[in-house]
Amino acid sequence: MSNSGVIIKHTTFRDNDEILTIFTPNGKISLVAKGIKSGKRRSLCEVGNWIDFDHVKGRAFNILTEVVLKNGFYNQKSKYPFHIFYLCELLSKFEGENEYEKYIFNLLVDSIGNLSNNPDLSIVFFNLKFIEHEGIMPDFFTCPRCHERLREDIQNVFYGGSIYHNTCADNSNSISVDCIKLMRFIASCSSYTDIKVSNDCLKESIFITCNLIDEFLGLTLKTLLYFK
Ligand SMILES: [Zn+2]
Repeated sequence: MSNSGVIIKHTTFRDNDEILTIFTPNGKISLVAKGIKSGKRRSLCEVGNWIDFDHVKGRAFNILTEVVLKNGFYNQKSKYPFHIFYLCELLSKFEGENEYEKYIFNLLVDSIGNLSNNPDLSIVFFNLKFIEHEGIMPDFFTCPRCHERLREDIQNVFYGGSIYHNTCADNSNSISVDCIKLMRFIASCSSYTDIKVSNDCLKESIFITCNLIDEFLGLTLKTLLYFK
């Protein structure tokens, strides 16, 4: 097999065929999988699975030929289908600047692999590392209005992709100190690290990071509903 990637989307294409969108270290590729709906390959080609594959050039579309399951991240008994669907939806809507996306690919397979540790924390890690890679990371230490350090004894607010002192921005989207501390911690880690965090803090962190991804990259995700 000459290619490897995670299936992030499948759509029906003619009666028995599907178009698979696969995220590879070289970016996304779309392939027609012929006869997949009635064949044995159906279970191999679920969204979220990591496959090795070959393809040939067709007249209008590239066509999947060989496929081998490398890691069946998704299966019917998976405990975290929503988290996997969120990651796959995000990357299916994301158009990277360059075609070479090895960093994002590795982040994706690491994050899916880490779901069994703490699924919500894995999503916050993914989101923040993705945000950092895309160059839209907010400053978690300094208020951009007054340039003083963000304090832990007064309320801070989140607005327009930045964090301000309550007194420096005129809006009501408060951000908790625990959430800021979690973001600072993750920003300092080079890879997923298990830590104890409350569920409320994780939900807030998912909301804040998804908000950044939506605001700067225009990615409004349906699967975000799963986390509410
Ligand atoms: Zn300030």
